[in-house]
Amino acid sequence: MTQQLPEHIDPFRLVRQNRILSGVLPLHRMARLAPLLHSADGVAEVELEFGTDDMGVMCVLGRVKAELHFICQRCMQPMTHVVDAEVALGLVANRDDADKVAAHYEPLIIEQVPTPLLPIIEDELLLAVPIVALHESGMCAALPLSSIVEESAMKRENPFAVLAKLKPRDGSKN
Ligand SMILES: [Zn+2]
Repeated sequence: MTQQLPEHIDPFRLVRQNRILSGVLPLHRMARLAPLLHSADGVAEVELEFGTDDMGVMCVLGRVKAELHFICQRCMQPMTHVVDAEVALGLVANRDDADKVAAHYEPLIIEQVPTPLLPIIEDELLLAVPIVALHESGMCAALPLSSIVEESAMKRENPFAVLAKLKPRDGSKN
Protein backbone atom coordinates (compact mmCIF):
# COMPACT_ATOMS: atom_id res chain seq x y z
CA MET A 1 0.00 0.00 0.00
CA THR A 2 1.83 3.09 -1.19
CA GLN A 3 -1.15 5.01 -2.53
CA GLN A 4 -1.30 8.64 -1.54
CA LEU A 5 -4.22 9.55 0.66
CA PRO A 6 -5.92 12.92 0.16
CA GLU A 7 -4.99 15.67 2.61
CA HIS A 8 -8.63 16.64 3.02
CA ILE A 9 -11.79 14.64 2.58
CA ASP A 10 -15.49 15.35 2.28
CA PRO A 11 -16.70 12.49 4.50
CA PHE A 12 -20.36 12.96 3.64
CA ARG A 13 -19.66 12.73 -0.09
CA LEU A 14 -17.46 9.65 0.44
CA VAL A 15 -20.37 8.08 2.34
CA ARG A 16 -22.78 8.80 -0.52
CA GLN A 17 -20.32 7.27 -2.97
CA ASN A 18 -19.57 4.26 -0.72
CA ARG A 19 -15.90 4.92 -1.30
CA ILE A 20 -12.93 2.99 0.06
CA LEU A 21 -9.78 4.95 0.82
CA SER A 22 -6.53 3.10 1.29
CA GLY A 23 -2.98 4.30 1.49
CA VAL A 24 -0.28 5.44 3.87
CA LEU A 25 0.43 8.47 6.03
CA PRO A 26 3.92 9.26 7.37
CA LEU A 27 4.13 9.19 11.18
CA HIS A 28 6.55 12.13 11.32
CA ARG A 29 3.76 14.44 10.12
CA MET A 30 1.64 13.63 13.19
CA ALA A 31 2.54 16.51 15.49
CA ARG A 32 0.87 15.07 18.60
CA LEU A 33 2.05 11.48 18.14
CA ALA A 34 5.62 12.03 16.89
CA PRO A 35 6.98 13.56 20.16
CA LEU A 36 5.87 10.42 22.04
CA LEU A 37 7.94 8.19 19.77
CA HIS A 38 11.60 7.21 19.95
CA SER A 39 11.64 7.43 16.15
CA ALA A 40 8.87 8.74 13.93
CA ASP A 41 10.14 6.77 10.94
CA GLY A 42 7.54 4.72 9.16
CA VAL A 43 3.97 5.10 8.08
CA ALA A 44 0.45 4.33 9.14
CA GLU A 45 -1.33 2.00 6.74
CA VAL A 46 -4.91 3.09 6.41
CA GLU A 47 -7.97 1.44 4.95
CA LEU A 48 -11.32 3.15 5.40
CA GLU A 49 -14.68 2.20 3.99
CA PHE A 50 -17.35 4.92 3.93
CA GLY A 51 -21.02 4.00 3.91
CA THR A 52 -24.37 3.96 5.65
CA ASP A 53 -25.34 1.16 8.03
CA ASP A 54 -28.74 -0.58 8.40
CA MET A 55 -29.83 2.07 10.91
CA GLY A 56 -29.05 4.88 8.50
CA VAL A 57 -25.95 6.01 10.39
CA MET A 58 -23.16 7.35 8.22
CA CYS A 59 -20.08 5.43 9.23
CA VAL A 60 -16.44 4.81 8.48
CA LEU A 61 -15.16 1.28 9.05
CA GLY A 62 -11.66 0.00 8.53
CA ARG A 63 -8.22 -0.49 10.00
CA VAL A 64 -5.16 1.52 10.89
CA LYS A 65 -1.86 -0.33 11.14
CA ALA A 66 1.49 1.02 12.21
CA GLU A 67 4.73 0.06 13.92
CA LEU A 68 5.41 2.59 16.65
CA HIS A 69 8.91 2.89 18.07
CA PHE A 70 9.33 3.55 21.78
CA ILE A 71 12.02 3.15 24.43
CA CYS A 72 11.22 0.29 26.79
CA GLN A 73 10.89 1.77 30.28
CA ARG A 74 12.34 -1.38 31.86
CA CYS A 75 15.56 -1.91 29.86
CA MET A 76 15.77 1.51 28.12
CA GLN A 77 16.30 -0.18 24.75
CA PRO A 78 14.25 0.53 21.60
CA MET A 79 11.11 -1.51 21.15
CA THR A 80 8.39 -1.75 18.53
CA HIS A 81 4.73 -1.56 19.43
CA VAL A 82 2.58 -2.99 16.65
CA VAL A 83 -0.77 -1.30 16.20
CA ASP A 84 -3.51 -2.99 14.25
CA ALA A 85 -6.60 -1.07 15.25
CA GLU A 86 -10.14 -1.42 14.01
CA VAL A 87 -11.80 1.83 13.08
CA ALA A 88 -15.54 2.28 13.60
CA LEU A 89 -16.49 5.92 13.37
CA GLY A 90 -20.00 7.36 13.21
CA LEU A 91 -20.17 10.65 11.35
CA VAL A 92 -22.10 13.44 13.05
CA ALA A 93 -22.41 17.12 12.27
CA ASN A 94 -22.32 18.36 15.87
CA ARG A 95 -21.76 17.41 19.49
CA ASP A 96 -25.48 16.97 20.20
CA ASP A 97 -25.70 14.18 17.66
CA ALA A 98 -22.65 12.37 19.06
CA ASP A 99 -24.74 10.48 21.65
CA LYS A 100 -26.97 9.04 18.92
CA VAL A 101 -24.13 7.04 17.38
CA ALA A 102 -22.09 6.41 20.53
CA ALA A 103 -23.66 2.99 21.20
CA HIS A 104 -22.10 1.49 18.08
CA TYR A 105 -19.44 3.91 16.96
CA GLU A 106 -16.85 6.32 18.13
CA PRO A 107 -18.46 9.64 17.17
CA LEU A 108 -16.52 11.68 14.65
CA ILE A 109 -17.76 15.25 14.70
CA ILE A 110 -17.31 16.86 11.30
CA GLU A 111 -17.05 20.56 12.03
CA GLN A 112 -15.87 21.57 8.60
CA VAL A 113 -15.86 20.18 5.10
CA PRO A 114 -13.41 19.44 3.68
CA THR A 115 -11.97 17.78 6.79
CA PRO A 116 -8.25 17.11 7.25
CA LEU A 117 -7.74 13.33 7.21
CA LEU A 118 -4.46 13.10 9.09
CA PRO A 119 -5.75 14.09 12.58
CA ILE A 120 -8.47 11.43 12.33
CA ILE A 121 -5.85 8.73 11.77
CA GLU A 122 -3.56 10.26 14.39
CA ASP A 123 -6.40 10.06 16.96
CA GLU A 124 -6.76 6.34 16.27
CA LEU A 125 -3.02 5.79 16.82
CA LEU A 126 -2.96 7.90 19.99
CA LEU A 127 -5.64 5.61 21.44
CA ALA A 128 -3.29 2.67 20.83
CA VAL A 129 -0.23 4.21 22.49
CA PRO A 130 0.69 2.19 25.60
CA ILE A 131 0.58 4.04 28.94
CA VAL A 132 4.02 2.64 29.72
CA ALA A 133 6.10 1.23 26.86
CA LEU A 134 7.53 -2.16 27.84
CA HIS A 135 8.93 -5.10 25.92
CA GLU A 136 6.88 -8.27 26.06
CA SER A 137 8.21 -10.77 28.59
CA GLY A 138 10.96 -12.82 27.01
CA MET A 139 11.88 -9.92 24.71
CA CYS A 140 13.16 -7.53 27.38
CA ALA A 141 16.85 -7.34 28.22
CA ALA A 142 16.04 -6.35 31.81
CA LEU A 143 13.51 -9.10 32.47
CA PRO A 144 15.39 -12.46 32.56
CA LEU A 145 17.43 -11.42 35.61
CA SER A 146 14.47 -10.12 37.62
CA SER A 147 12.30 -13.14 36.79
CA ILE A 148 15.07 -15.51 37.97
CA VAL A 149 15.31 -13.58 41.23
CA GLU A 150 11.54 -13.77 41.68
CA GLU A 151 11.52 -17.48 40.94
CA SER A 152 14.27 -18.34 43.44
CA ALA A 153 12.59 -16.15 46.04
CA MET A 154 9.39 -18.15 45.58
CA LYS A 155 11.30 -21.44 45.96
CA ARG A 156 12.81 -20.19 49.21
CA GLU A 157 9.46 -19.13 50.56
CA ASN A 158 7.52 -22.25 49.71
CA PRO A 159 9.07 -24.68 52.27
CA PHE A 160 8.39 -22.21 55.08
CA ALA A 161 4.81 -21.81 53.98
CA VAL A 162 4.38 -25.60 54.14
CA LEU A 163 6.03 -25.80 57.58
CA ALA A 164 3.82 -23.03 58.88
CA LYS A 165 0.75 -25.05 58.00
CA LEU A 166 2.09 -28.28 59.57
CA LYS A 167 3.47 -26.79 62.77
CA PRO A 168 1.15 -24.41 64.63
CA ARG A 169 3.00 -21.32 65.76
CA ASP A 170 3.34 -20.57 69.48
CA GLY A 171 0.81 -17.79 69.15
CA SER A 172 -1.87 -20.26 68.06
CA LYS A 173 -2.01 -21.92 71.52
CA ASN A 174 -3.99 -19.01 72.93
ZN1 LIG B 1 12.81 -3.92 27.62
